[in-house]
Amino acid sequence: MTHLFDVTVIGSGLVGSSLAIALQHSGLTVALVEAAPPPLREQPREDERNLALARASTTALQTLGVWPRLTGTATPIRRIHVSRAGEFGTLRLDAARAGVDSLGAVVPARALAAALQQELDLCTRIHRYVPAQLRDLRVSADRVELNLQTPDGETTIATRLLVGADGTASQVRALTGIGTDTIDYAQTLFVCSLLPQRPLDGLAYERFSDTGPLALLPLADRRAGFVLSVPTPEAAAVAALDDAGFLAHAQQRFGWRAGRFSRPGRRSAHPIRRVVAQGLTAPRCVLVGNAAQTIHPIGAQGFNLGLRDALTLAELLIERHRGGGDAGSDALLQTYAARRREDREGTLAFSHGLVQLACNPARVLAPLRSLGLLLLDGLPDAAGGIARRGMGFRGATSAYALGVRP
Ligand SMILES: Cc1cc2nc3c(=O)[nH]c(=O)nc-3n(C[C@H](O)[C@H](O)[C@H](O)COP(=O)(O)OP(=O)(O)OC[C@H]3O[C@@H](n4cnc5c(N)ncnc54)[C@H](O)[C@@H]3O)c2cc1C
Repeated sequence: MTHLFDVTVIGSGLVGSSLAIALQHSGLTVALVEAAPPPLREQPREDERNLALARASTTALQTLGVWPRLTGTATPIRRIHVSRAGEFGTLRLDAARAGVDSLGAVVPARALAAALQQELDLCTRIHRYVPAQLRDLRVSADRVELNLQTPDGETTIATRLLVGADGTASQVRALTGIGTDTIDYAQTLFVCSLLPQRPLDGLAYERFSDTGPLALLPLADRRAGFVLSVPTPEAAAVAALDDAGFLAHAQQRFGWRAGRFSRPGRRSAHPIRRVVAQGLTAPRCVLVGNAAQTIHPIGAQGFNLGLRDALTLAELLIERHRGGGDAGSDALLQTYAARRREDREGTLAFSHGLVQLACNPARVLAPLRSLGLLLLDGLPDAAGGIARRGMGFRGATSAYALGVRP
C-alpha cells in the first residue's frame, strides 16, 4: 500500500533540512527525499562557500537546536566596512553602536550542512528517502503521488502537501508547471579561504568595483573567507591561475586594507544566474529556498531568505495541523504565498537593484549598505527597524527568529 504523508519535502539542502527539523515535533507525518547519496555531512568538496547569516537566521537556527553544533566554527561579525574601489567614501557599521554583541555570523556552508544533518539524524519522526530522486508526480483532489527512483528501483509515496526544496533546477517546479524568469549575470564568483596579514577580529569587508563585488569575511583561526567576482569571459583565465597568481589577482582587486594575503585554501567557482519562480504554489505544492528564487549572492541573502520561506511554512503547517486541517489545502497555499510576498518581492528587487548599482561606476553610495543592511535585519532595536524597512523586509518575523518554537 502506498504510504501517505502529510508533508513531503523534496531536497535536503540547507533549506529543506531546516524545514524538516522545524517540523520534527509538529505531529505531522513528514518525508524528506534527497537525491544525493549519504553521507551528506559534507557538501561537495569543491564547495568553499562561507555564508554570512543575519541575526534572525542565527537565532532561528538556535531555536532549531542546530546553532550549538557550530560553536567554534561560526564567527561573529562585529563590524562591517563597505567601500568602493576608486572612491573615498566608506560606510562603517559597528555592533556595539547598534547595542548588540554581533551583527550576524559567518559559517562555512559545509559546516552548516553537517550541523543540519547531525540534527536531522536525531529527528526520528522524519521518514527519510536517501538517496531517492523525484522523477514524476500526479496531483489529485486530496493528494500528490510521487514516483521516486532509488538504488533498489522505483517506489511510490503519496503526500497531502509537496514542498519543492530542490534547488535552482527544481524538478518539483518543472513538474508542476511553474515557470521561471531567468537572468544570466555573466559573472562568476570565486570563493576560498585565505590568511590576511591583519587579523580581521570580527571585521567584514565588502568592496564594490566596476567588475563586480568582493568580500572578505572573518573566519575561525584568523583566516578569512574571500569572495571575488569576475566577468564570466575572464573566469577561465582566473581559474587557471596558480595559488600565487590568484593571490596577486585577489590583492590587486581588494587592495591592502587587510594587509598581505597568503595561504589560500581550495577555490570553488560559481557562475551566477538569477532564477525566479513565477509563482510560489501549484495545487498541493509549494516552493521554498533556491527552488523558489535563486538570487545573486551579493548582499548574502539567498539562504537567509530561503530559511524565512521554510520557517513561515513550518509555522503555518503547525497552526493548521492543530486546527485539524489538510496540510495541502488551497487556504494554506494562499496564506503561504501571501505571507511571503512582501519579504520576497522586496528582497528580489533589492538584490537585483544592488547588482546593477554595484557595477555601475556612476552610482556610489547606494550599494554600500547591502551586507550591513542584511545583517541589521532582525535586530530588535530601531536601527534594525529602519534597516528592515529600507530593505523592504516588512513581512511578519517568524517565531523561530524570535527564539520561540511555535
Ligand atoms: C558563492 C555563493 C555565496 C553565497 N553566500 C551566501 C551568504 O553569504 N548568505 C546567504 O544567505 N546565502 C548565500 N548564498 C546562497 C545560498 O548558498 C543558497 O541560497 C542556499 O544554499 C540554497 O539552499 P537550498 O536548500 O534552497 O538549495 P540547494 O542547496 O540547491 O539544495 C537542493 C537539494 O535538493 C536536492 N535535489 C535536487 N533535485 C532533486 C530531486 N529531483 N529529488 C531529490 N532531491 C533533489 C539536491 O541534491 C540538494 O541537496 C551563496 C551562494 C553562492 C553560490
